[in-house]
Amino acid sequence: MRTIKNVNFNGKKVLVRVDFNVPFDKQGNISDDTRIREALPTINKLVSDGASVILMAHLGRPKKGGFEAEFTLKPVAEYLSKLLGKQVVFTQELLGKEVSDLASSLKKGDVMLLENIRFYPEETKGGEELAKQLSLLGDAYVNDAFGAAHREHSSTAVIAKYFPNDKYFGLLMENEVVNLNKLMNNAEHPFTAVIGGSKISSKIGILESLLDKADNLVIGGGMRYTFYKALGHTIGNSLCEDDKIQTAQLLMQKAEEKGVNLYLPCDSVVAKEFSNEAETMYIDSMDIPDGWEGMDIGEKSIKQYCEVVLQSKTILWNGPMGVFEFPAFAKATNEIAKAVAKATVDNRAFSAIGGGDSVAAINQSGFADKVSYISTGGGAMLEFLEGKTLPGIAAIEN
Ligand code: ADP
Ligand code: MG
Repeated sequence: MRTIKNVNFNGKKVLVRVDFNVPFDKQGNISDDTRIREALPTINKLVSDGASVILMAHLGRPKKGGFEAEFTLKPVAEYLSKLLGKQVVFTQELLGKEVSDLASSLKKGDVMLLENIRFYPEETKGGEELAKQLSLLGDAYVNDAFGAAHREHSSTAVIAKYFPNDKYFGLLMENEVVNLNKLMNNAEHPFTAVIGGSKISSKIGILESLLDKADNLVIGGGMRYTFYKALGHTIGNSLCEDDKIQTAQLLMQKAEEKGVNLYLPCDSVVAKEFSNEAETMYIDSMDIPDGWEGMDIGEKSIKQYCEVVLQSKTILWNGPMGVFEFPAFAKATNEIAKAVAKATVDNRAFSAIGGGDSVAAINQSGFADKVSYISTGGGAMLEFLEGKTLPGIAAIEN
């Protein structure tokens, strides 16, 4: 694997694509700095080698073409300066003489951040000229933006071809690729995938792919009601994608053919309306009465799912079991988090968790430091596990 780990970048100018797409609160402060912190190992490694580091990143989805105050990376540069304990050079422009002069004046250990790369509409189109111009700023290219690795953009993929012998995975990317490959190609059995979340439509690809890998497919979340309906049950006001009923049927059929144990929750916690304060009821069956909506999986399912998790050597979890944002319906998600942590610590299972909401859920549960690996990529991780080629990874590997 072409990683920066065993290379010394002393005296080199290194272009690094990072994922600094962080959320802001209403006051304009960074409300979650995880993505910035996760880029630190790579930045620090290059700095301690004696490289000058030129960071490229995007923020949000600017539409106009050109500068938009709402999407400037300036606050990120200031924040990063604090974390690194040194002033990060920030460029208002992305290209042009001012930027190339600044880049050439960088000394060993200096860090520079380019303004939001998506101020150039060419970026998301994978523009060649933009990639070429950016490539002129550095001697080597490092991709550490796993969260954007499923995009074939100028700075995430296209640029790599200008560095045929000097392109590398950053440390975060390397970690993602190693762990995800382990899941896909080298999993110890029994392998259990716990898949939940709201929509079956966003999970079909991963479910299909897991039918060839996993021994147990454990289904939760709102998407289970499409399966219930496919089995002829009543679902009340629960979430359902009517155009995916056939898909659910097919998935159950394939699981049976392939000898994969597909688990559906046998009970539910339901509510009168979609709110934390709603009147609730326990349903000890797969039939949800009219006027009620399924919000969480029930006690019996929790017990069964935790048992399956605790018998597993490999566990992948994507998608909360219930509407975990409401404390009243976070029970199953928290119990699963606890079981995954226990399987990891007590049974030495390999556990991987991914997906924006699932990562929020494991953090909320307090068990985040007891699992083997938490993916930083939502869409990128799903696509990897679907068996797709990720342009950002392929561009470094090939
Ligand atoms: P991830 O981001 O981890 O991939 P998803 O985006 O697929 O997860 O799904 C997360 C969402 O699913 C959460 O917002 C959660 O509230 C919702 N959800 C889980 N169970 C239900 C349910 N029974 N009804 C409605 N929404 C649900
Ligand atoms: Mg989500």
